[in-house]
Amino acid sequence: MSTATNDELAARKEEILESLAEIRSRVEHAVPSSGAFHTATLVAVSKYKPASDIQACFEDGQLDFGENYVQELEDKAKVLPAEIRWHFIGTLQSNKAKVLAAIPNLYSIQTLTSTKAATALNKSLPTERTSPLNILIQINTSGEDSKSGLSPLHSGFDSSAEVAKADVTQLARHIITECPRLRLQGLMTIGALEQSLGGDENADFERLKETRDALAKALMGEFGAEKWGEEGRLLLSMGMSSDFEAALKAGSDIVRVGTGIFGARAKK
Ligand SMILES: *Cc1c(COP(=O)(O)O)cnc(C)c1O
Repeated sequence: MSTATNDELAARKEEILESLAEIRSRVEHAVPSSGAFHTATLVAVSKYKPASDIQACFEDGQLDFGENYVQELEDKAKVLPAEIRWHFIGTLQSNKAKVLAAIPNLYSIQTLTSTKAATALNKSLPTERTSPLNILIQINTSGEDSKSGLSPLHSGFDSSAEVAKADVTQLARHIITECPRLRLQGLMTIGALEQSLGGDENADFERLKETRDALAKALMGEFGAEKWGEEGRLLLSMGMSSDFEAALKAGSDIVRVGTGIFGARAKK
């Protein structure tokens, strides 16, 4: 890799901070002001981008960063500040759980889809960790083969017996009862890209909300509000560069923005 000159780094930093400021302002304006306690977390998705890009945002107060690849995350976490909250948003393989769990400032895994991976993470997390690892279960709201995630719950599922035995409910139950070092924080989706081009209503965002509501109801019945979510709520992670404003208007708690902050990524 060629080394960037100081001038190049300074120009790059200025460019990133300008984009970051713009995205922050758009996030702020899109969060519904009616929702009394509603604030949104902006996760800056830094995959393929150099540590210097992340450092620039960090120095501007950005703490939450998302990465998709275990090796890349491990390498970056080693050289970047310990105050960073890393969110893993890539495909999770159980055999990588150990490497992820060893990253001390790993804040969340947003892409859990199996009890096997949950068990592996719970077992690998070091006992020195003072707080549980936040977990979001990934839901394939668009039903596309190219996307991973468990099936959504929907309003057709109005019998509680059906909800109780659905994959997402079983995984949530497994986290709550078998994985004390994990905390079920919410649900995540990517959704279909075409959805974000049309009008205001995004069917995938609505499906994630329906799933959250049905799951929360089931968990409340089984466990009460103490052992999952944040103050009795399951958070929603939905919205990327092209659709985060629509997602926030629909009630998203966590948006994951890459291109909008760091510019286009080189194809792998
Ligand atoms: C890459 C990625 C993002 C960011 O996408 P942009 O369109 O660049 O904002 C968000 N979420 C997930 C799961 C991703 O893989």
